[in-house]
Amino acid sequence: MTRFSKIFVELIGARTCQELAIHPESCFVHCLKDIPLYLLSNFKYFVPICLLPLLIKLRSLNKNKLRHTFKYYAECSLVGAACGCGINALICFLRYIFGHFGYTTIVYWPSVIGGCLYNLGSERVKTFFETSVFQCITETFFLKRHNFVSHLIADSKYLQTYIFMICSALILQGKYLYGLKGFWFLQPNPKIPEVENTEHTTCQLHPKISCQRYLGHGMRKYFFLGLTLDVIKAMLSRISKTDSAKFKILSKIKNFRIRSTALLTTYIGIYRFTHCYLNRRFPHLKNLNHIISAFLAGFCYNFYPQLNIFSYALIQAIFTLWKIVKIENFDTDNEIFKFLQRIPFASLLFPFALGKLVHYVCLKPEYCSPLTFAITNGVTNNYPNVIKNELKAIIQKAKAECK
Ligand SMILES: [Zn+2]
Ligand SMILES: [Zn+2]
Repeated sequence: MTRFSKIFVELIGARTCQELAIHPESCFVHCLKDIPLYLLSNFKYFVPICLLPLLIKLRSLNKNKLRHTFKYYAECSLVGAACGCGINALICFLRYIFGHFGYTTIVYWPSVIGGCLYNLGSERVKTFFETSVFQCITETFFLKRHNFVSHLIADSKYLQTYIFMICSALILQGKYLYGLKGFWFLQPNPKIPEVENTEHTTCQLHPKISCQRYLGHGMRKYFFLGLTLDVIKAMLSRISKTDSAKFKILSKIKNFRIRSTALLTTYIGIYRFTHCYLNRRFPHLKNLNHIISAFLAGFCYNFYPQLNIFSYALIQAIFTLWKIVKIENFDTDNEIFKFLQRIPFASLLFPFALGKLVHYVCLKPEYCSPLTFAITNGVTNNYPNVIKNELKAIIQKAKAECK
């Protein structure tokens, strides 16, 4: 780390933006010229993220939902563009202020300061940005394998599955009992109303249909959902540019994998099956039945172990746990806890997490996942890629000259 930062300062420090070739024109012109490009890049990047869910909800779509979705899409794109433009301008500005590029002032501090612009968004948009960045930084933590914990977890699919099961139990229980919001792969089963009569031993989850039909409905719904996601993933997958049109379609078909389909279908299958079974056997233990089925259903992770899914579950579980603790201690008299509740941890940590992420993308790309590249490049019109490639070229050239 220290060696690399020293090499960095020696090779890069004194150069200007133009000498680094990160932009050929003057800094002022560059920042102005990039504003429309950043807007375009963001509006393009957020299309699948914000508008794809519309496809899934096609049947229950109405004017109001459509308006909300487009408002959310525009807001995400504008906030992303604001952060991107801010960071872009700050890279040049800090170079101008300090008179040189420092190891942390090239992208880390510009991203920390520029990242604060995400506060322009609504709560929903802010939560989305926070979740994405925290997910990527968690994934980087595992990819780095720099300590015992990250090593142990990143190398063991079974440990990941076990932790995913705990996360699944926490997140689904949070949704089931407290009605918490936030994206998760499954919708929780409806909460069973409290009925005094505990004589019956039938499943009370779905009074109008049988357990088999309830299970079948769920599996069919999530099978098609997963299939849609897999098809979209195959269509968006990268293929060789030299292929002809006919081969392009063939390569895309070759890239098709039944991953989300397997994950979602087994997830809902285990979840509903165990929940129905436990409800029939132990009708009085409603909450316990739910938490056990949500925990066991998390085993589906074993069919499609992916570090990005794992990191997302971990972040969602931490968010859920904190929300539950806050709800449970709503009228606490403990002054310290009251104070802690008022601290916006996520908002405070977000800029630093973003700074670290952009720093890794530009200077240590080997620790970044494809998702991290997609997010940082999507929001900033490929700028991190340009910086990364230019820095790499300079350092490699210097190394070759030394030899
Ligand atoms: Zn510049
Ligand atoms: Zn049932």
